[in-house]
Amino acid sequence: MSRAYIALGANLGDPAATVNAAFAALSGLPQTRLLATSALYRTAPIGIAEQPEFVNAAASVETTLTPEALLDALLAIEQQFGRVRAEKNGPRTLDLDILLYDEQIIATPRLTLPHPRLHLRAFVLYPLADLAPKLCIPGRGQLAAWLPAVANQGIQRL
Ligand code: ATP
Ligand code: CA
Ligand code: CA
Repeated sequence: MSRAYIALGANLGDPAATVNAAFAALSGLPQTRLLATSALYRTAPIGIAEQPEFVNAAASVETTLTPEALLDALLAIEQQFGRVRAEKNGPRTLDLDILLYDEQIIATPRLTLPHPRLHLRAFVLYPLADLAPKLCIPGRGQLAAWLPAVANQGIQRL
């Protein structure tokens, strides 16, 4: 069994309802058990400012899916929720990223682990800290050490 952490984000439709429905979808994945879910957070968009606020969260799972199979499963859930890939950092019904998969470090065209931007994003670090406050990010050190640097990014616990 491996332990993975997944980031959830949504900013179209009813994003909080989408994130809660996505938790349910994660709990239905094959070879996978949903361990815990974070609080939901309301966050300001990054990159393209003229779009609705995001709701973000994180989940931890135990799985025997490989990292690549888990990514495929997450992309399929995004499709079920009507995800359309348009502009980079643009609005989306649902975004599911793998943040960490055990201590694995992967850099392939399809999959980078740990997620390369996770330590720079309040909307990832705060939900992740709910699940695992003492988490160590391979190659980046303690999660908690990154929190002060992102405290100025607009984020509100719902
Ligand atoms: P960001 O990576 O900055 O959060 P994004 O989530 O908006 O951007 P997407 O358009 O959702 O980017 O994903 C583009 C591609 O990123 C996916 O098709 C996938 O192959 C790749 N990818 C690489 N590493 C990961 C990862 N750890 N989790 C999810 N997707 C990843
Ligand atoms: Ca993302
Ligand atoms: Ca993504």
